[in-house]
Amino acid sequence: MTRLILLGPPGAGKGTQAKRLASSLGVPQLSTGDMLRAEVAAGSPLGKKVKAVMDAGKLVSDDILIDLIGHRIDQPDCRKGFILDGFPRSLPQAEALDRMLADRKLKIDRVIEMAVQDDALVERITGRFTCAKCGAGYHDKFQRPKRDGVCDQCGGAQFTRRADDNEQAVRTRLAAYHAQTAPLLPYYRGRGVLATVDGMAAIDDVTRQMSRVVATVGAA
Ligand code: AMP
Repeated sequence: MTRLILLGPPGAGKGTQAKRLASSLGVPQLSTGDMLRAEVAAGSPLGKKVKAVMDAGKLVSDDILIDLIGHRIDQPDCRKGFILDGFPRSLPQAEALDRMLADRKLKIDRVIEMAVQDDALVERITGRFTCAKCGAGYHDKFQRPKRDGVCDQCGGAQFTRRADDNEQAVRTRLAAYHAQTAPLLPYYRGRGVLATVDGMAAIDDVTRQMSRVVATVGAA
């Protein structure tokens, strides 16, 4: 039973590491960004409402996010725990999450901060793209497919880039992180659940650091 929150600026590697931890722990990755992008792609009323805000790199309103996550954590696959990736992103969201969990007699075990220098983020984000078929992640500079234009994992030949992975939206997303999300660090530190890993390290090394944090759950 492990309930984790991954915290860090856009481009810190939350999605990559959440997928790895989710598969090693056997719990779902709850990415609010992925959930919202699925709504946008489906053209649902919710998707229509949030598209412009997301494309600009601003935060979607707290009530929408709280509702989305509130329903998601009640799904049967979350009984064994979950990894929150991209939520909470503001103090009202964190407080709402605390209330939701308290109502269910549950709690967050660890909040893992992925610390990354701001100046590395714009380059990390503006170069990234994913396989349209299997979702494998790549980067123009740091992680090109072995054969240009062909996915290493599934052989797919179509790739996509996020609408908000352009320099202007990235700068807005970073500003939103510092103004609205960074205050969650002292909030969780005060609750004794915060751990920090070096998000500038190599991907496998970050995974090892995170696994060591998870291994301390229940040991305190
Ligand atoms: P992400 O994939 O986590 O980078 O999220 C992409 C975009 O989705 C963000 O820039 C926001 O517009 C929106 N979003 C995702 N999660 C949240 C959240 N917890 N609160 C507000 N907006 C969010």
